[in-house]
Amino acid sequence: MKEKIVVVGAGQAAAQLALSLRQEGWQGGIMIIGEEALLPYHRPPLSKSYLSGEMEAHELPIRPLEFYQKQDIDVKLNTSVVSIQRADKIVRTQQGESIPYTKLCLSTGTRARKLKGVEGEGLEGVYYLRTAQDLDNIKNNLQAPNKVVIIGGGYIGLETAASLTKKSCEVTILEAGDRVLQRVTSPVMSDFFSDLHRQNGVTIHTQITIERFLSEESKVRAVQLSDDRLIEADCVIIGVGVEVNDQLAKDAQLETNNGIVVNQYCQTKDPEIFSIGDCTWHYNPLYQCWLRLESVQNANDQAKIAAKAMVSKEDLSMYNYNSLPWFWSDQYNVKLQIAGLSNDYDDLKVEGDISTQDFNVSYYRQGKLIAVDAINQPRRFMQAKKAIIESLNGS
Ligand code: NAP
Repeated sequence: MKEKIVVVGAGQAAAQLALSLRQEGWQGGIMIIGEEALLPYHRPPLSKSYLSGEMEAHELPIRPLEFYQKQDIDVKLNTSVVSIQRADKIVRTQQGESIPYTKLCLSTGTRARKLKGVEGEGLEGVYYLRTAQDLDNIKNNLQAPNKVVIIGGGYIGLETAASLTKKSCEVTILEAGDRVLQRVTSPVMSDFFSDLHRQNGVTIHTQITIERFLSEESKVRAVQLSDDRLIEADCVIIGVGVEVNDQLAKDAQLETNNGIVVNQYCQTKDPEIFSIGDCTWHYNPLYQCWLRLESVQNANDQAKIAAKAMVSKEDLSMYNYNSLPWFWSDQYNVKLQIAGLSNDYDDLKVEGDISTQDFNVSYYRQGKLIAVDAINQPRRFMQAKKAIIESLNGS
């Protein structure tokens, strides 16, 4: 039998892995298996330009079909893997197929966290926002003017609000915490983004609890809060975080802990099984901690390391995963670029002018620069990446 690398999950990490495997000289088979109907596609534009209508569906795929055909990469769509038989090196699909592998890579990502126990969550007009199909469902049912209620004030919630105001929707954000973007940034940035959205006509309510969704002829009409306030809605979009897809790994007795545990080469405790992207629980040597990252940068960087580790016969020690995490978000005319991880900062410094949307916030822990949020300052962001690495390495 020809050697074959099977990749479960067809997102950003899988697309990069397939390319990197060929670049590393892998001549055996490559099969990417994905649950969705689309070739691996760019997820970041979904809540941004794809929702606002500035990007078309044909621009979403990371690479066209011809790329996979030319590189002899088999992409099997609409297919769910339901189990891994490690002893026989086989994955089984829901459709009843048994697919053998020489090496396996799990790039199963995350799924939208559900709002549990809220009456009416299944009503027409209530959507989660995670996949391209979710977006198409939302877009097909949006008519302007439309009253849209967004539940969750994280990246999904805020980017969606910015995109929908461009489509003349009347937008309200309902956030459980006491400020938006609480999970990812400081109060200074949360205040800046709250003001930005309010200036653009978005209403934001924080510290709310959703009681239930009210309907008329099975279509959502309002959101009732626990303090009995009623917020009218023609459409509700829910973005309350994600849950990691690690059940397949758990069932195969691989180690998991808020994700699939991997070493510095993205290898699980089974040397023939690797894992990359949003679903991995990995050690970051720069921050000297274990973490799970939801980012394109991490998906690409881990894919490149895993490809080397799967194919290369050389000493791998120089290829350790040692990347600085970075993220971005586009809302209205504001570009937020985040270098590093600001959790656990004990000091911060604001430079520039918040009122003209031209500033940055540097975060420190015990005197060391650990992260920078840059608003409309791409040069500062580039400098910051270098400065943070130097600071964390103690040079
Ligand atoms: P998120 O960043 O975790 O934000 C979810 C927000 O919803 C949090 O502020 C959370 O508040 C709030 N929330 C939770 N339960 C709630 C409830 N019952 N009612 C009201 N609010 C509630 O997740 P997300 O915005 O859904 O994004 C999902 C994923 O996509 C993440 O992985 C994110 O990193 C990724 N993403 C990234 C980008 C980007 O990097 N630009 C853009 C879009 C999406 P608490 O913190 O208080 O729980």
